[in-house]
Amino acid sequence: MHVIVVGAGIAGLSSGWALAKRGHRVTLLEQDAIPNPLGASGDDHRIIRRAYGEMAGYTRRMTEAFAAWDELWRDLGAEHVAKVGFMGIVRAPGDNADAYRDGLARDGYPFETLGRDAALARFPYLDPQGFRDLFVSPEGGVLLCLRIAADLSAWLGAHGVTVRDHCTVRDIDVTAPAVVLDDGTRLSADAVVVTAGAWVTHLLPAFADRLASKRTYVVYLDPPADFRAAWQRTPAIPGIGGDIGGYILPPVAGTDLKFGAGATRTDWPAGTPFELAADAGERLRDLFAPLFLRLADYRVKRVRKCVYTFTADDRFFGARTGATWVVSACSGHGYKFGTAIGRRVADAVESGDERSLIRWLEARD
Ligand SMILES: Cc1cc2nc3c(=O)[nH]c(=O)nc-3n(C[C@H](O)[C@H](O)[C@H](O)COP(=O)(O)OP(=O)(O)OC[C@H]3O[C@@H](n4cnc5c(N)ncnc54)[C@H](O)[C@@H]3O)c2cc1C
Repeated sequence: MHVIVVGAGIAGLSSGWALAKRGHRVTLLEQDAIPNPLGASGDDHRIIRRAYGEMAGYTRRMTEAFAAWDELWRDLGAEHVAKVGFMGIVRAPGDNADAYRDGLARDGYPFETLGRDAALARFPYLDPQGFRDLFVSPEGGVLLCLRIAADLSAWLGAHGVTVRDHCTVRDIDVTAPAVVLDDGTRLSADAVVVTAGAWVTHLLPAFADRLASKRTYVVYLDPPADFRAAWQRTPAIPGIGGDIGGYILPPVAGTDLKFGAGATRTDWPAGTPFELAADAGERLRDLFAPLFLRLADYRVKRVRKCVYTFTADDRFFGARTGATWVVSACSGHGYKFGTAIGRRVADAVESGDERSLIRWLEARD
């Protein structure tokens, strides 16, 4: 089978990987560099963790996700993950971190709760007024996205995949199926897989009622010198509650400390430019008060803009029209599932079984 994949974020790269391993001919088309620095997969790092609280189907699918990453590491001959685990900082009963811990306890996954004194001794940058308790889990950690994209696209090139960066798909003919490039070239295939991230509704406006494109940004920080060592031994921190929807990536494997918050997310009409205020980094950093001591002493090194898609209920998206498949590892939590999604896309393209793919992506069971 010849399959054209549109978009080389983690979903497109992984779909190409899984399809090529099964002997299919793959053409991967990316409008920008690989990875696109504005795309959802173009940032330095992403959290991988099992905890999902109420969305327990994703907790269960993490076993497959971990196995898919292991398969990729074997193929690449390198592990681009810092296995530092993750922790939840509980600020109020029932907040995201508390729900994550409940989910781990319910399903019997490992974690350790630290009382306030133990937490402050281990993580001295915490403000004692800012949290109730916290837990640490040994599973998961930090995926190193830039290294993954570089090695995965090199692997694809070495295994017969045609990889074309700076090659924009202008139009998709779902009935053929075929794609039309910016220069007017028409490419036909047996199947087309569209993994175009936040640009998908630009290409296929019919999905705009189910997929919303959003923009956000993250800030990279240099912590005060006396807190640096503690941050270097900090696990990844998803699900920071309160109104901010915060998350933190520790400075591991040569990366910088990163803060991000769902509170900075706004609508993004696909393709439009967006600028940030000169003090955007400091403003994002300061959303994390009163969780950390001396926040003003954390120097802003840089900010990074990102765009991504969301569904109404934060579940991943899949659809098929003829032999054209649309998949979005969306809603701000899909990177960790990227390689598993690639394998599932390959299953679906081979079998034509749209239902199984969507059921897996939505994770309601
Ligand atoms: C700030 C932020 C933090 C996140 N944190 C986490 C986290 O900690 N853990 C986690 O698991 N997930 C996280 N996510 C979500 C995760 O990053 C995404 O789910 C995942 O990267 C989506 O990958 P994708 O391949 O679907 O999309 P993308 O990575 O956006 O890739 C889409 C690609 O398609 C290309 N493209 C689009 N249109 C065309 C066209 N017409 N022609 C050719 N190419 C085209 C784009 O250039 C882009 O490279 C986060 C997302 C953001 C934005």
